[in-house]
Amino acid sequence: MSPVIPIRAEATGCSDVRPLVERGQREVFCGLTGIMWLHRKIQDAFFLVVGSRTCAHLLQSAAGVMIFAEPRFGTAIIDERDLAGLADAQDELDRVVNELLAQRPGIRMLFLVGSCPSEVIKLDLSRAAQRLQQRHAPQVRVLNYSGSGIETTFTQGEDACLAALVPELPDPSGQQSPTLLVAGSLADVVEDQLGALLQAMGIEVAFFPPRRSTALPAVGPHTRVLLAQPVLAETARALERRGAQVLPAPFPLGVEGTTAWLQAAATAFGVDAALFEQVTRAPRERGSRAMAAHKPWLEGRSVFFFPDSQLELPLARCLQRELGMTLTEVGTPYLHRQHMAAELALLPAGTRISEGQDVDRQLERCLQDAPDLTVCGLGLANPLEAQGLSTKWAIELVFTPIQGYEQAGDLAGLFSRPLRRRELLTAGQAVQRAA
Ligand code: SF4
Repeated sequence: MSPVIPIRAEATGCSDVRPLVERGQREVFCGLTGIMWLHRKIQDAFFLVVGSRTCAHLLQSAAGVMIFAEPRFGTAIIDERDLAGLADAQDELDRVVNELLAQRPGIRMLFLVGSCPSEVIKLDLSRAAQRLQQRHAPQVRVLNYSGSGIETTFTQGEDACLAALVPELPDPSGQQSPTLLVAGSLADVVEDQLGALLQAMGIEVAFFPPRRSTALPAVGPHTRVLLAQPVLAETARALERRGAQVLPAPFPLGVEGTTAWLQAAATAFGVDAALFEQVTRAPRERGSRAMAAHKPWLEGRSVFFFPDSQLELPLARCLQRELGMTLTEVGTPYLHRQHMAAELALLPAGTRISEGQDVDRQLERCLQDAPDLTVCGLGLANPLEAQGLSTKWAIELVFTPIQGYEQAGDLAGLFSRPLRRRELLTAGQAVQRAA
């Protein structure tokens, strides 16, 4: 078995692609959704959404699965008040924050998260954050960012949050040798596995965001950044302004992506090829075996991606190259050419890539293509299933640990399951008809 598909140095695939750019109606969650995974990641932070009842409902329903978890987010509802003046809203916000911090002394970092209602837009949340920071320092750091559906889609909330956190990162003190910073939130289990592989190669690594706000990693000209998530345009810019260098690499999805991602770090830190091989061989082979079990369900089948999480291009690359699927359309909310350069190069030339959305036109294309599997948001899944298509909810790919070697089989399973389910249903119906 060949565990890794060799990436040809000259691979260009879709590097010069001209995406189909659409700026019509979108069917995507807003950036508040990021709180669902960020609040689990930074364990002493609290996310206070300054918003409406709609925002509160979104958080409650999206977080329904977390009902037994200690909540680390809430909503200050301010859109239904008689706002004679903005001072009232600022006073109200101060009151909510004071109460919250008095009740929850464990909070070390408080994010004020902006939203859509016009009352919120008029509030200057960055001034509010500064004022509250002065009052509550040094016990609590108060930051702000926007998760508004007007400014952000789904995973852009994470980018806005981390970009707001970058100025808080300390300068490295007197450090001369390069260090590695992995940016983008990963499930703890994935972080531990990837960290262990990098450390086995002799690379010291820090993760951003950290698990505790009191353990912020240092950043400076000696920092090399490896992006673990493809959603971090603003965060990467903020890190580069601090002198850090982003290493070009595909994302750690599938065995091939994980190997190339680790290889980017190994090359930057001068890791010997034999050591790299020794460290990665066993998990690589495990990952390949786990993926191969799903290949019979996926090989030769077609997949269509609606734009949702920005994970679409790396996922499409993994499904096409490692699992033999054909790509009918790969939609992405936003195409960051630089961060996606390695991914684009690995996609087959001629792949239809779309950026942004005009949902009606895209639905028409999807129905015309009639793919075996459609990856889409929750709102589109039921109508498409009713039309006889198999669907996969894009949000599951964000909530499930899918990065790294040990998760490669689970990643393939997320795509094979809907196809297996439909096959079983079809077989069952055929038996009923024959009876
Ligand atoms: Fe809706 Fe805007 Fe609140 Fe998101 S931020 S839930 S889009 S009102």
